[in-house]
Amino acid sequence: MKTKALYPGSFDPLTMGHLNIIRRAAKLYDELTIGVVSNPSKASMFTLEEREEMLKDALRDLPNVKVDHFSGLLADYVNRMGFDVVVRGLRATTDFEYEIQMAQMNARLFNESVETVFLMTDPQYSFISSSVVKEVHTLGGCIDGLVPDEILKRMVK
Ligand code: ADP
Repeated sequence: MKTKALYPGSFDPLTMGHLNIIRRAAKLYDELTIGVVSNPSKASMFTLEEREEMLKDALRDLPNVKVDHFSGLLADYVNRMGFDVVVRGLRATTDFEYEIQMAQMNARLFNESVETVFLMTDPQYSFISSSVVKEVHTLGGCIDGLVPDEILKRMVK
């Protein structure tokens, strides 16, 4: 049976850290869906449509990866779509504190067979987050190499 995995997140914007997790997860599972969170009440740099478009562009070379979006409870989306695995990335102990709480809460809400799997960040990307990238860029700092080139062009616009 095929293993269907989900990598959920805001991806506002997609960074090299996300991309590294996606490429590694795509090797582990038959199908990987990138689930972009739609949260209209949270201010974002890019719209949901823009974030999905940027992901599709960046992931064109990965045939077993697709891009989707969801709103509301992650567990409802996971149960509805029949994912077997939810992938998350871990950068530091601060991520761990938050992620273990969410994973344990989700374990109550998921269908029994769904596992949350954590991939450790590649050390070269451990300091990268969408929010730090946006903040540095907004203040005029260089973020070359931290996000895909196409995304950097859109941020400059
Ligand atoms: P959220 O809004 O839930 O934090 P993000 O889009 O920021 O969503 O991130 C989605 C997932 O990717 C999270 O599990 C986060 O820990 C992980 N992630 C973000 N940046 C990196 C990175 N540089 N290296 C590894 N994992 C990362």
